[in-house]
Amino acid sequence: MIKGIVTDIQRASVHDGPGLRTTVFFKGCPLHCDWCHNPECIAFPPQILAYPEKCIGCGMCEEGCFSGAKVPCGKEMSTDEVLSQILLDKDYYGNEGGVTFSGGEPFSQPEFLSELIDKSKAEGVHCAVETSLITYHEEILKKLDLVMADLKIWDDDLHKKHTGVSNKIIKEHFIKLNTLGIPIIARTPVIPEIEQGIEEISAFLHSLENVIQYELLPYHPLGESKRVALGQPKTEFTVPSKDYMKELEHYVFVR
Ligand code: SF4
Ligand code: SF4
Repeated sequence: MIKGIVTDIQRASVHDGPGLRTTVFFKGCPLHCDWCHNPECIAFPPQILAYPEKCIGCGMCEEGCFSGAKVPCGKEMSTDEVLSQILLDKDYYGNEGGVTFSGGEPFSQPEFLSELIDKSKAEGVHCAVETSLITYHEEILKKLDLVMADLKIWDDDLHKKHTGVSNKIIKEHFIKLNTLGIPIIARTPVIPEIEQGIEEISAFLHSLENVIQYELLPYHPLGESKRVALGQPKTEFTVPSKDYMKELEHYVFVR
């Protein structure tokens, strides 16, 4: 049975796709977005999040920390172990809900993802993925009920500067994905300090008929405390104001 590295499994999620969902967070991502709200999902190997203010000096580190001062992040799990968690809420998913494979980048562990989709679908669970579309695994994508994908910045140089990768391949993957007939929800995280070219992004996505929805997600500083716990510097991004989000409102669409 295939195993993969998972950082967390969140039940009863209402922010990771339609309906009530279980979200499985894969560890590892080829991008390094400066604003990433899940920085513990970027590196592939397991890590420790350190919160020294919670240390009570018990000296029992080798047995595992029970005070929350050292939190292991990244656990090897088999597809059956993950599936058993997904099925816990099967009765509550209804017509819309299901499982969302997120991260990190779920397509960075393609065999693990593929087997999880197969097993979830065999149980009648709606399967969605949250992806950067930096890779394109057509055979896996075809099995999905919904793809949620980001186009973060239009200008390629700025994209490289803030994510570590070119967006040319991501745009190409959007165009290829659009031919598969799978519903796509496209998103852009809104970072006021960056000229993201949201007008151009929206026009591009609107030209793809299977993009059923385009959302703008305001930057949230959720990742900051985790960045510090990983020994990384804090970022200097700010949460967009309500007025700024309102200015951008006409770029979003639902079909
Ligand atoms: S186990 Fe946790 S609380 Fe105890 S000394 Fe180690 S880090 Fe501190
Ligand atoms: S693609 Fe997502 S998980 Fe990967 S670094 Fe960017 S925000 Fe984080």
